[in-house]
Amino acid sequence: MVTRFLRRRQAPDSARSLRRAVLVEALQSPACALCQIAQQNNPRYVETLLDRAVVDVEQRDAWRAAKGLCSWHAWMAVKTPQGAGSLAILYQDVLRHDLSQIDPFTVPNGDGRQRSAQRRFLRRLRTWLESWQAGPTCPACRTWGEQERLYVQVLLNDWPEPALSQAFAASVGLCWPHLRRLTAWQPHHEHLPAVLKAQRACLETLQRDLESFIRKLDYRFADEPYGREADAWRRAVSLYAGTDGWLGSAPQ
Ligand SMILES: [Zn+2]
Ligand SMILES: [Zn+2]
Repeated sequence: MVTRFLRRRQAPDSARSLRRAVLVEALQSPACALCQIAQQNNPRYVETLLDRAVVDVEQRDAWRAAKGLCSWHAWMAVKTPQGAGSLAILYQDVLRHDLSQIDPFTVPNGDGRQRSAQRRFLRRLRTWLESWQAGPTCPACRTWGEQERLYVQVLLNDWPEPALSQAFAASVGLCWPHLRRLTAWQPHHEHLPAVLKAQRACLETLQRDLESFIRKLDYRFADEPYGREADAWRRAVSLYAGTDGWLGSAPQ
């Protein structure tokens, strides 16, 4: 009984230290740590979703409402081993729904004299078009979004842990999209200023590396060997764009 009680109390802490360890490891990579974790974890989320969604009616409803997966997760799903059968079943269901949605617009819409019928037609057409833009988030983005918030929380809460803050200081920092999310989610967090200060130092390093890279484009310095500035241009792109399409359909 006592053991079970202790286990229940310890569980959140062990999940927190596990996330901290994952963060510290991801900070060693030459990209934003949260993008890195997204790249590592999302194929697993997609695989689990594919397995569950085929048998879980509620999940099928979510897929239908979201019109399948966002582009990032959809192409990830295509690469999932044994994903073909699940994708065929799920997308057949989504397509059946969307085919019925297009039906009302496939019949001739009067001869132009029936203004009220035309207005009704255009209103329904607009609603249909809007349903593509403002629909629910991709189911895999929703799963990742929940995890992403937990990692952001650990980054801020555990900032006083030297292993974490030192790893951050030695890293390339976060991409702008993740930094904006972190700031928007936790604007009053006591450690936010310290994280932003460390991020600023990372950005200054990138700025110096870009200057050094651009200087070596000049033929007079072209013989100088490249150091850490060699991939500064790539780091600058991923600072603004995140890594390899992780933005998916998630709200910014
Ligand atoms: Zn990122
Ligand atoms: Zn997605």
